[in-house]
Amino acid sequence: MSTCRRLHVIAGLAFLLVTAPAAAASCGPEKLGVSREIAIDGSQGLSLGLQSYPATLALADHEVVLTFDDGPAATTAQVLAALQEECVRATFFVIGENATGMPATVKREVSDGHSVGYHSNTHPAKTLRLMYPEGAKADIDAGVAAVDKAAYGAASDKPHNPFFRFPGFADTPALLDYVHGRGMAVFGADLWASDWQAMTPQSELALVMGRLEKLGKGIVLFHDSRISTAKMMPDFLRALKEKGFKIVHMVAGAGPTPVEKAGPDWKSTTEPIIARTLSGHGHVHGGETKEAEPAAR
Ligand SMILES: [Zn+2]
Repeated sequence: MSTCRRLHVIAGLAFLLVTAPAAAASCGPEKLGVSREIAIDGSQGLSLGLQSYPATLALADHEVVLTFDDGPAATTAQVLAALQEECVRATFFVIGENATGMPATVKREVSDGHSVGYHSNTHPAKTLRLMYPEGAKADIDAGVAAVDKAAYGAASDKPHNPFFRFPGFADTPALLDYVHGRGMAVFGADLWASDWQAMTPQSELALVMGRLEKLGKGIVLFHDSRISTAKMMPDFLRALKEKGFKIVHMVAGAGPTPVEKAGPDWKSTTEPIIARTLSGHGHVHGGETKEAEPAAR
């Protein structure tokens, strides 16, 4: 290497050393950031998310909670990078078997400041609802243990975090009681990106922004396992910023968790879809109900 070339390399390294910490810390007002945190109390027996339950988090207009299911996957790093770039924190509902396969990614979710929740161990195609109760409970428990081991190095008797989402939203009253009894709140969603369907990142962006602007706020469901979601995430976060949306981050904490009840005309969006899917007249794609479109929104 010539002296000149070596100097260039040294200058380049010095540049990296000077700029890298600054870049990581540059979470000024130009970034979307996190506007506030909401403490989720796992002992309250909560089931939240209006598509499946008649209650949700009490959010102000234009407040959004971001959630990601089914990871970690090959595309998760791309999602994490986009969130980091905008200083945004989210909640990842992680599949136990995936966590066992990619523990470093789960650890990064934790070290980046995200919340980690549970989404069963195997994401059974027939859903937890159609399993024998003991098998379903065992799958839930194995998922909690696998995610906690990947995230924190060890699993204990109690789940580390109070966040659980049923694969395909297919719960049962007994399994809801079981999850609540283990100290977790159950999450559905207020709206979703329909990213279990194949679509371009541009289509997904338009779809989810349209739904958000119509609803005005809510818990949003994505899949970090979907390439369209990973690709649209930087543009989505910029669009949220431009349209005046604020990010609310769910963290484990003592309650009371602020909850808003649905009106008397509330109906489950997901229940008829699950019924159709499980009776063989629908499709399950990636474990989620493929026809699960918000009917009234
Ligand atoms: Zn899922």
